Amino acid sequence: MVTGASRGIGAAVARLAGRHGYRVCVNYLSSDEAAAAVVDDITAAGGEALAVPADTGRGADVERLFATVDERLGPVTALVNNAGVLFGQCRVDEVDEDRLRELLATNVTGYFLCARQAVLRMSTRYGGAGGAIVNVSSVAARLGSPGEYVDYAASKGAVDTLTVGLSREVAAEGIRVNAVRPGFVHTDIHARGGDPDRVERIAPTLPMRRGGTPEEVAEAVLWLLSPRSSYVTGTFVDLAGGR
Ligand code: NAP
Repeated sequence: MVTGASRGIGAAVARLAGRHGYRVCVNYLSSDEAAAAVVDDITAAGGEALAVPADTGRGADVERLFATVDERLGPVTALVNNAGVLFGQCRVDEVDEDRLRELLATNVTGYFLCARQAVLRMSTRYGGAGGAIVNVSSVAARLGSPGEYVDYAASKGAVDTLTVGLSREVAAEGIRVNAVRPGFVHTDIHARGGDPDRVERIAPTLPMRRGGTPEEVAEAVLWLLSPRSSYVTGTFVDLAGGR
């Protein structure tokens, strides 16, 4: 299951997972056509995929999402917590309460709600066969995003703490939990935050002098999901051109 897989990093992860032989649940919020296109790409390449709209910040939606996957694809064995949002750039002294609630609902509550449903299915404690969870965090967690969106950066700090804590909680139950921390990747998220040229603007200041692609992030996610990383848990792969 890849949350937020209709566009950007999630779509690239879903497509690559399909090529790696996973039966893929493409979760999304409202982009029906984009999600259907990702499913079409996966099936055209010989894979199997199912698009399921659900707001990951809402418990009832998350329960329906996992129940749908139980029924149509079988219980989840690999979860990529990826659905995330950011809002217009501002200072902390300009952030309002509604924005904070909306941001934290998707970026933090959603990751917890999906992790919970995944653990209930994967953990040997509950009769599961184990599994892997990859949380999509951000280098913002350690850079703090001053003057842009400290609220978003703090939500990713929470994702990092979830990754460490949950990894240790379920390490003896057959579940590995890791995170990727992208930065400056070419997706729609920057335009939605009001700064469509953000990656191009920042690229010359990065050690590698370029932004990243969703496909580069997807490669790291698939490695962390796979048995090739069987002794890796509670850790982070940064994909930020050297920053
Ligand atoms: P994006 O292109 O804006 O795509 C966001 C995806 O999340 C879309 O599929 C969207 O669905 C879905 N989504 C948003 N809110 C949702 C909700 N409440 N429930 C379910 N799905 C929801 O974003 P992206 O750049 O690929 O970012 C993906 C992840 O990478 C995020 O966690 C982001 O914080 C992280 N990240 C991105 C960058 C970067 O530079 N791009 C850097 C660091 C970290 P709809 O299409 O239906 O709206």
